Amino acid sequence: MYPDVQLFINGEWCSAIAGKTIPVINPATEETIGHIAHAEKDDLDLALNAAEQGFNAWKATPPFERSKVMRKAAELLRERVDQIAAIMTTEQGKPLAQARIETLAAADTIDWFAEEARRTYGQVIPSRQANVQQLAVKIPVGPVAAFTPWNFPINQVVRKLSAALAAGCSIIVKAPEDTPAAPAELIRAYADAGVPAGVVNLVYGVPAEISEYLISHPSIRKISFTGSTAVGKHLAALAGQHMKKATMELGGHAPVVIFEDADLDAAAKQLAGAKFRNAGQVCIAPTRFLIQKSVYEKFIDKFVAAASNIKVGNGLKENTTMGPMAHQRGLESLERFVTDAIEKGAKVRLGGKRLEGKGFFFEPTVLSEVPMDASAMSEEPFGPLALMVPFSTYEEAVIEANRLPYGLAAYAYTRSNTTAMALGRDIESGMLTINHIGFGLPETPFGGVKDSGYGTEGGSEAIDAYLDTRFISQAGA
Ligand code: NAD
Repeated sequence: MYPDVQLFINGEWCSAIAGKTIPVINPATEETIGHIAHAEKDDLDLALNAAEQGFNAWKATPPFERSKVMRKAAELLRERVDQIAAIMTTEQGKPLAQARIETLAAADTIDWFAEEARRTYGQVIPSRQANVQQLAVKIPVGPVAAFTPWNFPINQVVRKLSAALAAGCSIIVKAPEDTPAAPAELIRAYADAGVPAGVVNLVYGVPAEISEYLISHPSIRKISFTGSTAVGKHLAALAGQHMKKATMELGGHAPVVIFEDADLDAAAKQLAGAKFRNAGQVCIAPTRFLIQKSVYEKFIDKFVAAASNIKVGNGLKENTTMGPMAHQRGLESLERFVTDAIEKGAKVRLGGKRLEGKGFFFEPTVLSEVPMDASAMSEEPFGPLALMVPFSTYEEAVIEANRLPYGLAAYAYTRSNTTAMALGRDIESGMLTINHIGFGLPETPFGGVKDSGYGTEGGSEAIDAYLDTRFISQAGA
């Protein structure tokens, strides 16, 4: 059932010129399930040439027509959701229900950007002379290079791809080698919907080699990356060196502030869902739980009770609610974080270890009294680990929430409108959700500040990253 994955260049599915491949592992069984074509410089040159040609065709296609093709791609994704979800679960590990949601959400994202394509308005600027007309028009920036990670194999691609296509850009997607087949199905939906040859291209290989080559190539005008802060800083520097526009969606370490006046039952239930979704491998996952002292034990009990209901297992099985971690390196890194925190004095309230046997499974884990010098308190654990820490005053909670260089997502629970409004002013993050889990809709901004990157991949600003402004001043002849 799991397909081998080819490159998609200039409207054709193809093997790499040199014939090299990379194996793909099922994280639930550790078995090799397929292979992907491994692109090298010659393949990238073909993709770059195709993206140049594709750009010339696509920028001349009226937005209304682009929009129609995009909507067709969204429909195809909806029709194929069962097959695509099974592929995603097999390569990435998340439960089928989550893979279905991701695929259907991608279709919504495409629809949103298909509409945005028709709204790239410019301006008419009043002129100082009667016979002069001054226009500011929006033009597509050019061929885009996008680099996406494995945690949301489709979702991470669809935002970049759809914004680029809506704007009139062509794109080369370097999708994740760990989870290659689900993003290939997204590309297939676009191809089958009738996107002209060269507009969308898909490659895999050695990420650092591909990014270095594409970012420095004169054909590429815009970079978009999602992944760790360390890699993001490297790619942003490279983009700067070549004067390329860049969007950086990087790591996070989301604080959750639970005030004593909060609805603790709702908070525990909602946050346990958000924490352990996708085995915690989510850049906006709640991570540092800052809990007001008077409700500290009570909240932990409720959170542990909610987390105890999670069924860990192969995501293809009906009753599984949390799958394996996506790869061995993530599992080993999480083990190091947990061991380090326990050695430094943290208490295990739930879980704490990997499951015996095959597969990269780790228990949903809750640690309390986590000392500040535990590395998980400052580095992104990117796994099913919740860290519980008490606080006394509002000021103390805000200082801790803002302590890290990250600034992606933040969560808070309080019944006080005054506290909620103050948090909106004081928390240094690109996104804040209060009393519910409210992130990630196509129509709302999605992005970070500080070391979590720059640019937004949702909402009405998202398409701007793929557009330049051209000023045209014309005198009547
Ligand atoms: P990583 O940064 O090495 O890789 C993340 C993604 O970036 C991968 O898909 C990888 O192929 C790609 N990548 C790596 N180096 C690259 C390069 N030089 N050029 C282009 N692409 C490159 O991290 P990882 O080991 O896969 O995951 C570990 C950490 O990455 C996590 O702890 C987390 O901090 C971060 N991460 C963040 C997100 C997110 O949604 N923001 C997603 C995945 C991983």
